Amino acid sequence: MKYISTPPPVSWELARTQKTMQKRSDIIIGVLALQGDFLEHIQTLTRIGIQTKEVRLPEDLSAIDAIILPGGESTTMAHLIDVFHLRQPLKNEIDNGMPVWGTCAGMILLAKKLIQNKPKTLEVMDITVNRNAFGRQIASFEADLKINILGGGPLHTTFIRAPLITAIAANSETIASLSDGTIVAAKQNNMIATSFHPELTSDTRFHEYFVPYRH
Ligand code: GLN
Repeated sequence: MKYISTPPPVSWELARTQKTMQKRSDIIIGVLALQGDFLEHIQTLTRIGIQTKEVRLPEDLSAIDAIILPGGESTTMAHLIDVFHLRQPLKNEIDNGMPVWGTCAGMILLAKKLIQNKPKTLEVMDITVNRNAFGRQIASFEADLKINILGGGPLHTTFIRAPLITAIAANSETIASLSDGTIVAAKQNNMIATSFHPELTSDTRFHEYFVPYRH
């Protein structure tokens, strides 16, 4: 693993330009494959020509350059993280600078604070998250969001019983919000969290952005 001996990067852009970063064709992105829509992430990455690895065991972490925590059910995923003894190894990798992206349930897992008292998260990202925040009537919806870091036109986004970010620390940055100001995507150092699911649409810009190769 290339990040162990380097300090955590101070910004996402730096994470992408560190000298330790590899060529795009050598990058392997792990996808936590315990539960949820990990296959959709793998299919999207495959479509843009990126190698992937399903992550289930602590030893899988040593073969990857970055990791995606997919959407699904965060309580189940948190439980399985403990069953598979992944909690501390995963936290260590993230603390050491491994790029991580959590989508929906994955965003819940990254948060240091939840409004609800379950599940027990990895507590790595300085955001406060409200699970199932959009209530029953609007449990699922779609929106076109302007996301400056991606360039180009708005991203068509899908929200499914989505969490939202209710508080964000000064060291984190909002990267997308709804028209009413609700924060639905943020980044902090080597971590990105999105309430929505770019893996469920054909637009591959977010996955492309996440690939941490030397530009
Ligand atoms: N509401 C779910 C949870 O709390 C997340 C939904 C999703 O990942 N699509 O885990």
